[in-house]
Amino acid sequence: MGKLEELIVSLPDIKKFQDYNVYPQSLNQFNNSWVFMIKEKEADFLVASGEVSKEFKGDNFINEKCNYLIAPLTHENAQVLRRIFPFTAPVPVLKSERTFGVGDRLGLACPGHIRVFKEYDARPVFAQQSIRELNLTNRTYADVLDAVSFSVFREGYKYGFGADGDHLKKPEEIVYALENGYTMITLDCSEHIRNDVLGMSKDEVDKEAILNLELKERYLNRTFTVEDEEVNYTEEELKRCILIYQDAIRFAAKIYHEFIVNSNREVNFEISIDETFSPTTPTQHYFVANELLLAGVKPDTLAPRFCGEFQKGIDYIGDIDQFEKELKTHAAIARHFGYRLSVHSGSDKFSIFELIGKYTKGRFHVKTAGTNWLEAMEVVAMKDQALYREIHAYALEKFPEAQKYYYVTTDLNQITELGELSDSNLPSLFKNNHARQLIHITYGFILNAKNEDGSYRFKDRLYGLWRKHEETYSEMLHKHIGEHLKLLYQGFDK
Ligand code: ZN
Repeated sequence: MGKLEELIVSLPDIKKFQDYNVYPQSLNQFNNSWVFMIKEKEADFLVASGEVSKEFKGDNFINEKCNYLIAPLTHENAQVLRRIFPFTAPVPVLKSERTFGVGDRLGLACPGHIRVFKEYDARPVFAQQSIRELNLTNRTYADVLDAVSFSVFREGYKYGFGADGDHLKKPEEIVYALENGYTMITLDCSEHIRNDVLGMSKDEVDKEAILNLELKERYLNRTFTVEDEEVNYTEEELKRCILIYQDAIRFAAKIYHEFIVNSNREVNFEISIDETFSPTTPTQHYFVANELLLAGVKPDTLAPRFCGEFQKGIDYIGDIDQFEKELKTHAAIARHFGYRLSVHSGSDKFSIFELIGKYTKGRFHVKTAGTNWLEAMEVVAMKDQALYREIHAYALEKFPEAQKYYYVTTDLNQITELGELSDSNLPSLFKNNHARQLIHITYGFILNAKNEDGSYRFKDRLYGLWRKHEETYSEMLHKHIGEHLKLLYQGFDK
């Protein structure tokens, strides 16, 4: 590391940055000291000069010209960074007109994501992980946020980002996310939504649903006007709404009052009712929104289950005309009740983005989660074909097991056999929806696969490769996520 002091004494002159592999956007001043980030072969490090170096934990270098410290990217140092440079800490962003959530399963995608959000005014949620994703990737909420804080510092992204405890179902999960400084809670109500009601006969519904006078007066023989849409209820419809959503509404209200209202800081709140078998009809959406309002719940965003299929990593499947019609009403209901629509599993839904931009009038929250994993695997197919072939074969082997956790319509017979693909044709697999889903849903198996001696079968090689080809990965994400934003923005006038 030798002469880093030569660089430090010449700051803020950045002419020497190249010689020391400094990330140029990372240079920041705190009082009279400098902090920046350098790239070493195996990892990145923070460098802190002068007084501020006392704050971080690392190796100290002192001589007559200057003193500085080289600090590893640990959780402890991330906490210091967030305290000293608040732009590296998450903030509640959901009050913004439009927001976009991009999970980062590997802790490597954020620099690529940042390139996109330097170009669009949608505010990003860079840290966004469900408990299941944490388990499958062996990461913690602290790990996820730290990786984002370091990336934001490194790339000089200073417009503010959110951190979403995504699809949380239990109080202890919410506490866990909040304790780690997360600024958004997405409450997954699916365990409190009844999926069996759709298949019940009118008689069965009559027998089970209790329709008291209050609810009758609230909903029956009335027409609710929402912009230029009308919503009204038959008695049977109302009863079904009650049976399907009553518990979920109670659950959301309890969580909201206990954890969001009572929090000592502002926390964004999203209610997700999307993980259900049947779509949320506009009538049901209105019912849920109205009952939440009466229970004093004010979500920032709500994710209904839209009609059609939102499968992982591929375009929308379904009747676009019906989607458009229902989206128009859903968006109007959301505006009426003062929150924004949230669209989950938003990766690669290129045929509907413009409609979402249009009917939400540019006020939306869209989430993508695993698409950055697919892009990372495409990098493998491009740069290390032998490794990709090994992983692809392993994914095929594990697919039946992985399929238990996801709803996908993957047909493995539609994927060209590896033996028939030349090395240079391997990346073309990522244009095939079946291959995309194969790789998409087996990520936990791939990352956790172990050799007999207990070492990781793929993980270490993968991370080594991704580090080496970081620029390629960032540029692919820039392009791919950028395409999502471009289409969303085509739908509305700014
Ligand atoms: Zn969801």
